[in-house]
Amino acid sequence: MYKVMAVNAGSSSLKYKLYEMPEEKVLCSGNCERIGHEDGIFGLKYGDKKVREILPILDHAKGVELVIDALIKYGIIESLEEIKCVGHRVVQGGKYFSKSAEFNEDTEKKVTELIPLDPLHAPAHLTGFHAFKEALPHADAIAVFDTAYHQSMEPEDYVYPIPYEMSEKYDCRRYGAHGTSHNYLADKAIADYFGGKAEGTRIITCHIGSGSSLAAIKDGKCVATSMGLTPLGGVMMGTRTGDLDPSVMDYLCTCTGKSVDEMYDIFNKKSGFLGVSGVSNDTRDVEEAANQGNERAKLAIKLFARTVANFIAQYYVRLGGADMIIFSAGIGENSDTFRAAILKNVEEALGLSVDYEANKGIHGTQGLISKKDSKIMVSVIPTDEEVMIARDCYKKIQGVL
Ligand code: AMP
Repeated sequence: MYKVMAVNAGSSSLKYKLYEMPEEKVLCSGNCERIGHEDGIFGLKYGDKKVREILPILDHAKGVELVIDALIKYGIIESLEEIKCVGHRVVQGGKYFSKSAEFNEDTEKKVTELIPLDPLHAPAHLTGFHAFKEALPHADAIAVFDTAYHQSMEPEDYVYPIPYEMSEKYDCRRYGAHGTSHNYLADKAIADYFGGKAEGTRIITCHIGSGSSLAAIKDGKCVATSMGLTPLGGVMMGTRTGDLDPSVMDYLCTCTGKSVDEMYDIFNKKSGFLGVSGVSNDTRDVEEAANQGNERAKLAIKLFARTVANFIAQYYVRLGGADMIIFSAGIGENSDTFRAAILKNVEEALGLSVDYEANKGIHGTQGLISKKDSKIMVSVIPTDEEVMIARDCYKKIQGVL
């Protein structure tokens, strides 16, 4: 038995989950929020107990110290030596990583080099890595990349039609994101619905939450995905635009007198559900407003459903048909209304026979929401990116990563 830690370091947060492997037993999980503030929040869950403290967490190192101290203080582990590997989620692996890698000097150098592609997350990932390395010098460290699973795409699925020299010189192409989640969903579906045989399967995964992306998966490998150079591309999201005509940037900058940076910020933080509805980035609020007759909230829901449906249709063609459509993440797992709105857009063309009663009964659990005569199975599968990180940690310990 080995203990491994899955870590997701954001700019002002540090999520963690401690596992016992290979059982995949969760020993504890938690989050340090508001890092950099006097009123930071330390959270921990273990067994049926919860800890929440408000205290200064001025940097990631302090967050890691709080996590480590709590593991001992609450008797979750007896000694730090028990933790054999720390797996760090890294959003952008660029062209370098098609699978998880040991977080050594070379990996650090490459992640640093990739900062321009992900200025929002990459510095935080590096800070988290250093803080854990200092606290647990004996433990292995690995990096698990959101982009890695999408590296199996063919050039015609990832090249942008810009001058090719620019694509090459600046590594400007589609990388996608949420790869760890899409990989988990495909593996889980193949294990549970296709007898563990990946060959011949055609799966469309819809990871729709505050960030949303879809992937087309053939024989267990990703062939296309909706996010692009960054997680701004693809379908509309909580606050992000998703795909736009590139001239929208220039036009709106001219109209408003705002700079490219300011407009880019608006596309990332003030658009999507928030921008269209004017209500919230949280689809629960948008749904409630729509139920009360708010026309912009209604439009936001229809627009989202249409853009997700358009990608499903595109991937149906890309895969030469489909065997399963999977819904996951915050919206996909919990909202029967959104699932139904999306499926209504594609059911006729794709020959779906949706079990809308079953759909209504699924919130946060796994299950099929299609009838037996449906040409394509439709399922809801809760995603689990952390367990994928823990599995790779275990592989590292076994020497097979
Ligand atoms: P995630 O990023 O996967 O954690 O998804 C979080 C988002 O999922 C929230 O911001 C909401 O927009 C959405 N969400 C969560 N629960 C529900 C629900 N019951 N109904 C509709 N949307 C939900």
